[in-house]
Amino acid sequence: MRPEVLFPLFAPARTLPGIGPRVETLVAKLVGAKPGESKVVDLCWHLPTGLVDRRHRPKIAEVRDGEIATMEVQVGLHVPPRLKRLPYRVHVHDETGEMQIIFFNVHGDYLEKALPEGAMRVVSGKVEFYQGQPQMTHPDHIVAPEELSSLPLLEPLYPLTAGVTMKPLQKAIRAALERAPELPEWQDGPWLKARGFAPWRASLIAAHNPQSAADLEPDAPARARLAFDELLANQLALGVVRLRMRRLPGRVVKGDGHLRKKVLAALPFALTGAQTQALAEIEGDMGSDRRMLRLLQGDVGSGKTVVALLAMLNAVEAGFQAAMMAPTEILARQHHASLVPLCEAAGVRLELLSGREKGARRAAILQALATGEIDILVGTHALFQEDVAFRALALAVVDEQHRFGVHQRLQLQSKGGSATDILVMTATPIPRTLTLTAYGDMDVSRLNEKPPGRKPVDTRALPLERLDGVVDGLHRALAADAQVYWVCPLVEESEELDVTAAEERYKHLREVFGDRVGLVHGRMKAAEKDAAMARFQAGETRILVATTVIEVGVNVPSATVMVIEHAERFGLAQLHQLRGRVGRGADKSSCLLLYQIPLGETAAARIKIMRETEDGFRIAEEDLRLRGAGELLGTRQSGLPTFRLADVERQGELLAAAYDDARLILERDPELESERGKALRVLLYLFGRDEAIRYLRSG
Ligand code: ADP
Ligand code: MG
Repeated sequence: MRPEVLFPLFAPARTLPGIGPRVETLVAKLVGAKPGESKVVDLCWHLPTGLVDRRHRPKIAEVRDGEIATMEVQVGLHVPPRLKRLPYRVHVHDETGEMQIIFFNVHGDYLEKALPEGAMRVVSGKVEFYQGQPQMTHPDHIVAPEELSSLPLLEPLYPLTAGVTMKPLQKAIRAALERAPELPEWQDGPWLKARGFAPWRASLIAAHNPQSAADLEPDAPARARLAFDELLANQLALGVVRLRMRRLPGRVVKGDGHLRKKVLAALPFALTGAQTQALAEIEGDMGSDRRMLRLLQGDVGSGKTVVALLAMLNAVEAGFQAAMMAPTEILARQHHASLVPLCEAAGVRLELLSGREKGARRAAILQALATGEIDILVGTHALFQEDVAFRALALAVVDEQHRFGVHQRLQLQSKGGSATDILVMTATPIPRTLTLTAYGDMDVSRLNEKPPGRKPVDTRALPLERLDGVVDGLHRALAADAQVYWVCPLVEESEELDVTAAEERYKHLREVFGDRVGLVHGRMKAAEKDAAMARFQAGETRILVATTVIEVGVNVPSATVMVIEHAERFGLAQLHQLRGRVGRGADKSSCLLLYQIPLGETAAARIKIMRETEDGFRIAEEDLRLRGAGELLGTRQSGLPTFRLADVERQGELLAAAYDDARLILERDPELESERGKALRVLLYLFGRDEAIRYLRSG
């Protein structure tokens, strides 16, 4: 249950002045809430990005063109317009000179009240010169001198959206801030002091009342404090989950190595140092009586699969079962296919289960699984459906590819029932900072070394007009026995259009190259997809036209050419993933990025980086820099958390501190029961990490 002290903040935003149902829809969009669901707290998190400084108080004779000025003047003559479309002018003056205040489409009655002739008024707004005369058009503020204190000398400016204007938004946010209660301090006192951070409420108010441009920067104390709160909530939530998993009894899984020995002997290569190291870490976790929750992070082609297999064999040697889950049907089948020969060599019973195994076939697999006749099961999500029961599942490997979040990991673990170790593999390298925000609950092994013998991929960028030349070039490539991926543009939000583009390119290339061309896309039936992939893998087709379904994991070592059409429409991480499909065999590979001109600045930067490096970690860092964490990898599907206040790129140091702090807190007070612990629960609720609270003993 959310603590009562937070109720005012979680009241609907439409209880704020000026936010009716229509405006609420717009405001919700602005603050990243669903229409109808924006809360008071969402407006509190909507921080200013600019400010107007009205402290400049010149006399009329001193004012300069284009300045924001606050001026005390005496009102003179009103000159209403002779025609409706002409402006209404009010003459004003002080002891140094004269000025005009200009209004369009404003009622004279209103102006006579606001600017009564002969009265003193303070006006604030932008001054412009017209024919040598100063003018102020539609002052932002008009007040009597005795009301001067009501005039905001420093005014925060907020990001807007169409239909929401500054003044009402400022007013609503001011009202939201008034509802913000004092909250118990959840941060460590000495730390706050050392940082010069104020309490939460004071920091919130200060963040909305910048005194200078510096106060808008992420390192301004008020902003840094709020960001730190958010990061701590994130790390604490992950930490609570981690602790809960650790507390569950694990089991000691220590194989004798006889199966691993056979597989290692059957492999045509030796493990890299990074693979050996990762494997040792995994085996260490499995051999302890605690749960393993480990992330195996490695660029495309870094050899995660064999590490996963060896870990699974460790379980099988010890008399247990293991499972490997892939995000797509194609990948599950491919994993299965690549494991078959190795499992045969070791005499291990391997089976595949996806949505396509149905009826009697499925029943037979489930039966064999329950009795323990299957050692390793590879599959899609179907693996973790209700009726799938293992005899003794000791290790679950998830080839994640950014499709699962913390919540899914927990579900999966509960599926494993008793004491299942979990190994998550992720192919898209995530910058270190983001790894913490998404996987702060996990231990991490990194494969940062590519298997030997990989040749660099020759990456080139060409405008789309040269497409015919590229097609000509394919004749030569095919004559030299190459295989080619041709990836068609991603059309935003329309799989259908994707498919159309791919089908058209397929037709076109088929006219040129005949039945050496294959096609695979997301709308094809599973069996058709498999067949198309299999033909390409077997070398029957030489050019595979595809949508991004080939983005992840697909492994055809003899493919050496990657053509990406409309490369400007792809994200950096995606381009990198796609390019990773080639350069896997012994032959030299190339990647052609075909782009539409004119090329936007960001797209040009992406293509430049692609040409400069193949280092996935560097590419991920650059991606973060170019796009910002929120957009990276498409946050929604990625399971990476988004932050309202923290900027993980610019506040990475705070993130590291939050990580350390969360660990320390949970070491001392794992159930958050101390005085500070209780305050930290409020923090978790404040940032909507209610879920984590449920994992506490007295949640
Ligand atoms: P990832 O899943 O990390 O993208 P894979 O596991 O699919 O990479 O491995 C890519 C290719 O590299 C596979 O063909 C695999 O057999 C090969 N490979 C893996 N480890 C090594 C190694 N140590 N030396 C040489 N080749 C390797
Ligand atoms: Mg893989």
